[in-house]
Amino acid sequence: MTFSSVNPATGEEIQAYSEPDLRAVERAIEQAQAAWTAWRATSFEDRARVLRAAAQVLRSRKAELARLMATEMGKPVKQGEGEVEKCAWACEHFAEHAERYLAPDDIDETSSVVFQPLGVVLAVMPWNFPLWQVFRFAAPALMAGNAGLLKHASNVPGCALAIEDVLRTAGLPDGAFRTLLIGSGRVRDVIEHPLVRAVTLTGSTPAGTSVASLAGGVVKKTVLELGGSDAYVVLEDADLDRAVEICVAARLVNAGQSCIAAKRFVVVEPVLREFTERFVARMRDKRVGDPLDEETEIGPLARRDLRDTLHAQVTTSIEKGARLALGGEISDGPGAFYPPTVLLDVKPGMPAYDEELFGPVAAIVKARDEDDAVRIANDTIYGLGGAVFTRDLERGRRVASRLEAGCVCVNAQVVSDPRLPFGGVKQSGYGRELGAYGIREFVNVKTIVVN
Ligand code: NAP
Repeated sequence: MTFSSVNPATGEEIQAYSEPDLRAVERAIEQAQAAWTAWRATSFEDRARVLRAAAQVLRSRKAELARLMATEMGKPVKQGEGEVEKCAWACEHFAEHAERYLAPDDIDETSSVVFQPLGVVLAVMPWNFPLWQVFRFAAPALMAGNAGLLKHASNVPGCALAIEDVLRTAGLPDGAFRTLLIGSGRVRDVIEHPLVRAVTLTGSTPAGTSVASLAGGVVKKTVLELGGSDAYVVLEDADLDRAVEICVAARLVNAGQSCIAAKRFVVVEPVLREFTERFVARMRDKRVGDPLDEETEIGPLARRDLRDTLHAQVTTSIEKGARLALGGEISDGPGAFYPPTVLLDVKPGMPAYDEELFGPVAAIVKARDEDDAVRIANDTIYGLGGAVFTRDLERGRRVASRLEAGCVCVNAQVVSDPRLPFGGVKQSGYGRELGAYGIREFVNVKTIVVN
């Protein structure tokens, strides 16, 4: 089978690729296993040398990689450069801290706990941060002594191959990290292969459900980083200037195509009107355009079918009573562009309330007071990352502790950070990436007792 990458800004095909056959996939798994047996025996210092070199390779290819992301999935080049830099940071972070994160835990004179690599780990990854999602898996997994196989989203094959090349150029032993250009229907073959020990998936909840069932059937560990419909709660004592700036940025990050983008804005009645007016004005200001233009703030969505799904969610929400305050119209042309859009009076039963909106569409929901805002924020199948805006930091901490999410920020935007655990609750997934918690997901937590 062949598949091709398409430039979402122009609709033009970039390149066609053919899928490897089953034997070629099996060979890649066997090579990964062979590479792992050597890699697991290396010291943290040896591995850190490779990861630090990877950071340098990433930085030296920053412009080229940002351009690749722009053409394959529409990320504006300025933001792509930031993403490359963040990948380099993750490589350096785990190069420096992995040994400490995985230091043996001596319980008493006879008993200790050690952390040993599991083996070949499959990563099924999404297109929205095509480099970052992969490096935030690969940097800790490799530093822990595992080998990696990447099944990337089908619309970013160039990025998938570039990541393998960066790691090879950095000196990672051949086979220790391999890209498999296969479609989602072939993931089962890899999960069920006896040499594959674990799977991590970042993507939608349906994809996570499917991969977790396959892995469960052969008793393999999974980590799932899935969707979100995160609430940003604005209380009556918020600094509205700051809240509006942060909320707009959090909704429009990556053209709204981020799992932790703010999706629902739950605003208490006393400040609803003022927040809404300022929010709509700032959303209107944003520059949508060619992702290769350095001035562009919002590029196209990554694929036309994703744009059509988003538009259907907007129109259905309007049919069910939401009011359109901005955007909501698709322009002519071959690109997958969608304008910054704001929906008001959003209520349960509307897609804008119940579902994840993966694009630059903000849903504003009215709450009576703090308790009502917390209730609405938690009224979702998801729980990834939310925020609270208040000048009273104690109140912020209190409300944060009541929100069902993997991360809550007070007066700040939720962002991932190599030092901090990242992940969700409810249907946003389980397990953690990044930090000391993330690096321990793909290790054997092994008890040793010596008498
Ligand atoms: P997606 O359609 O679920 O795809 C993600 C990956 O899973 C792709 O590699 C895809 O391959 C593969 N896949 C899809 N269905 C599969 C199946 N049934 N079995 C095995 N593999 C399957 O998601 P997406 O549209 O690329 O990304 C958007 C979603 O990811 C959003 O819901 C977003 O919130 C979530 N996300 C979560 C996080 C997080 O950290 N929690 C981060 C980023 C994105 P193909 O491309 O070949 O279909």
